[in-house]
Parts: sequence; C-alpha cells; structure tokens
Amino acid sequence: MRKVGVAYGEALLQYSFGIDHPMNFNRIRSFFRMFDKQFKENGLFDDIILISPVLAQEEVIKLFHTEEYIEYVKKASLNGFGYLDYGDTPAFKGIFEASSYVVGTTIECVEKIMDDIVAFAFNPMGGLHHARRDSAAGFCVFNDIGVAIEFLRKKHGVKSFLYVDIDAHHGDGIFYEYLEDKDVWIVDVHEDWRTLYPGTGKETERGEGNAFGTKMNITLPAGSDDADFYKRFNEIKFFTADLKPDFIIFQCGGDSLKGDPITHLNLSPQVHKDLASLLKKVCLESGSHGILALGGGGYNNIMTSQAWINVINALLE
Ligand SMILES: [Zn+2]
Repeated sequence: MRKVGVAYGEALLQYSFGIDHPMNFNRIRSFFRMFDKQFKENGLFDDIILISPVLAQEEVIKLFHTEEYIEYVKKASLNGFGYLDYGDTPAFKGIFEASSYVVGTTIECVEKIMDDIVAFAFNPMGGLHHARRDSAAGFCVFNDIGVAIEFLRKKHGVKSFLYVDIDAHHGDGIFYEYLEDKDVWIVDVHEDWRTLYPGTGKETERGEGNAFGTKMNITLPAGSDDADFYKRFNEIKFFTADLKPDFIIFQCGGDSLKGDPITHLNLSPQVHKDLASLLKKVCLESGSHGILALGGGGYNNIMTSQAWINVINALLE
C-alpha cells in the first residue's frame, strides 16, 4: 500500500480574502470537516499521513517569481489595502505570509514524495494557477505549481512533468509560462474561454517551438455536464498513454462542479475521482516519482470538498 499525504493545519486558513470574497477560509475549513468525518472518525487513517503547513523560504519562492514581484507582495502585505492585480485579488495584512504558507506546504508535499514517505500528496490550498512570474491574478498571489516544478528541477534533477488541470478556469499561469517547454506536458480542461475568466486556452494552442504537441486544451461549453466531459475523456487517456513523466501534478479545482457560484459547468465529483485514478495508473506504469495533487479553485464548499475527498480516495485505492 502506498501512502497518501494530506496537508492539514490552521495556517492554510490564512489565505483568505474576507468572508464576502469567494476565496475565503471556509473552503478549507469545510474540507477539513469532511476529511475528519470520512477518514478520522471512520478509522480509515492507516494509509494517510498528515502534513503540517510550512512557511516557504523566500529563496524557494524566487525559483519561480521575480525578486521585484516578491518585494511588491511584501509591501502590499504591510499596507494591507488595495489590490494586487486589476481587482480580483485584494491585499490584506499578512498576505505575504499566508501566500508563503501555501507555497511552503506544497513544497513540503513534494519533499514527502521525494523522500518516499508518501507516493501521493494533497495540498487543498495549493494549485494557484493564475499567478505569473511577475504578477498576481485571479485570486492567486504565488504560483505554488510553478515553484514546485522549478524546485523539483533544481533540487532533485527532475526533468519531465505531466500537469493536469480540471479547474473551470484555464491555468494560464502554468500554460503560458511553460508554453515553449517540451518537458512540461499539459492537459488543461476548462470552461470555454469565451464565457469565463481568464479568456484564454483555445484548443488550437498546443505548445510552441519544439514543445508543439506537448500541450492540450479541452474547452467545455458553458453548461457542460459529465456526459460532455466523458465524451472527451478518451482524448486525455490517449494523450497520457505513452507519456513517461518523472513527476505528475494534478490541479483538482472544484469550480468545474455543478453548483459553483462563479462558473458555468455542471460536472460531478466523479470526474475528479476518475482523473485521479487515471493519473495514478500513469504514475505506476511510468515509474514516475509520485503525484502532487492541489486543491485549486472551487467555491461551492460541499461539492468541492467531496471532489477532493474523491481524489484522496482514488489515490488510496
Ligand atoms: Zn478556478
């Protein structure tokens, strides 16, 4: 049995833009509550290892982000007002530390995988896929996914990655930062760019230069449900079938689920489970180091928590 690590601790609640903002601490609190019920109270805890949140060192954040941008976030964190971007991502006092916890915890999950303590690890607060190297965007301050990729390359010599993203929003912060990188394969399933932020992610975009063909965007029209997703599932299976990635990252955003207040897709949490199972199969067949699963978005707390629990269950099976 291969163990699954789950990041768990109060420090992850700090990444919260206030109770009136969709990205608030109740999301993670709701997940912890469901997690306790499903695993702790049922005694199904033997194969789960809790991972305590860790504050990232600035040197680690710098692996992906520019020094100027990090200084900008620090300043905004002291002032605690205004926006870090054009109006989606408000500053608050302590936002630098809160964001550093997200990154540090994702890196701690990576280390637990590389140390062979767990095969798979999940950080519910991770997966902040809109942040760019030099800017915040769409509720995302530091891009823990990009930091994880650079960290694995620099510290562990990991070369190739498979990144799969089921968040309703296109993962532009990863897609475009690695557009010309042939060692980062990307499958990004998202709502059609014409009806949802950030308005990117056309299916004709498949990577550039010698990275052409290493990226796949799957756009689902607004209103799409499981039937629409499963019509495309074979394409994902086909794309991932012969890959031999050294490391797998799954951004399991829950805003693609039915009932999400800010998007227009109607998937069920079964999709998250089936994708996690597929990635587990790819991982075991390819001899990849492991799977880093990250919560991503998701603003219907019950549905999102259920999808994340499904991911953990698929990795445990
Ligand atoms: Zn999203």
